[in-house]
Amino acid sequence: MTYDCVIIGGGPAGLNAALVLGRARKNVVVIDEGRPRNQVTRETHGYLTRDGISPSEFRRIAKEQISIYPSVHFAADTAVSIAGTDGHFQITTAQGTIYGSKKVLFAVGKKDVPLAINGLADVYGISAFVCPYCDGWELRDQPLVLIVKGANALHLAKMMSGWTNHFTICTHGPDEMSSLEKEELAQHNVPIFDSPIQSIVSNEGMVQQVELEDGTAIPCTGIFFGPKLVTGSELPRALGCEMTEAGTVVVDKFGKTNVPGVYGAGDSASEMYQAIAAASLGAMAGVSINNELIMEDWNKEACSK
Ligand SMILES: Cc1cc2nc3c(=O)[nH]c(=O)nc-3n(C[C@H](O)[C@H](O)[C@H](O)COP(=O)(O)OP(=O)(O)OC[C@H]3O[C@@H](n4cnc5c(N)ncnc54)[C@H](O)[C@@H]3O)c2cc1C
Repeated sequence: MTYDCVIIGGGPAGLNAALVLGRARKNVVVIDEGRPRNQVTRETHGYLTRDGISPSEFRRIAKEQISIYPSVHFAADTAVSIAGTDGHFQITTAQGTIYGSKKVLFAVGKKDVPLAINGLADVYGISAFVCPYCDGWELRDQPLVLIVKGANALHLAKMMSGWTNHFTICTHGPDEMSSLEKEELAQHNVPIFDSPIQSIVSNEGMVQQVELEDGTAIPCTGIFFGPKLVTGSELPRALGCEMTEAGTVVVDKFGKTNVPGVYGAGDSASEMYQAIAAASLGAMAGVSINNELIMEDWNKEACSK
């Protein structure tokens, strides 16, 4: 069987595309290995009607609602290779299944490169976060540590000032900031420490203090840090999709990549990193894919009459 579209990745982006395509009566399979970037968190915030929902509950409800549409199928599997051209793609999975498809949507997200800081993994997603829009409200007015360096330090400090005025910057080694940036932070009374972090002390995921190699201990109740991100999958690159240095698939406003018949959506194709934005891009890609499929059939029918 040749599917109308194989969607690789079943997070908010892939699932919203599946919903749109299912309602448009297209045969779709969503291949998802189930390792979203936000799997460390207990709550997803800022998604209208779903504020505070757990990532797993979000996916459960999404799949329940999509299951009403019989042309959408789910495969708990990993896509390991992809070949072919528009109208004739073949996707092979880790379990050995080969899916034929007319179109492909990459909704593979991004992955964190783990920061080598002792104790960070114990607090990540519980009291250490990456985005103030996602988790700043919960930590408002609290004493925080920002682990960040370079130009990002001033940017994150400015952002955090909207949620709390009690924060300290730890650059965990050379600060890589200009003297102007440091001056601006000093004018706003933001302490900066460049001694490497020795460990993050916590209790059941709740950070208590950040200890530096020079003996300084900074008590705090939360941490924000800038993660390094990479593409969620090498498959877009393998198929010839143009990618940015940050590992983002380059798409136009309809989600189309430079490879005919291949689309990208969500974190994998943007740097917005919000679940609702990922879902929106998935919906847009779903509409574009459906339009393309309809026009191809429409034109074929006209030729055969
Ligand atoms: C700690 C943390 C907290 C966050 N909190 C919030 C929040 O409160 N609010 C908010 O709006 N956003 C939050 N985010 C961001 C949010 O998680 C992402 O923006 C959103 O999940 C992106 O959706 P997506 O569908 O693009 O990718 P993802 O949700 O990451 O899903 C991608 C899926 O593709 C799968 N996949 C990848 N490669 C393959 C392959 N080859 N074969 C099969 N499957 C594959 C992955 O396993 C994964 O299941 C948070 C992120 C982090 C890290």
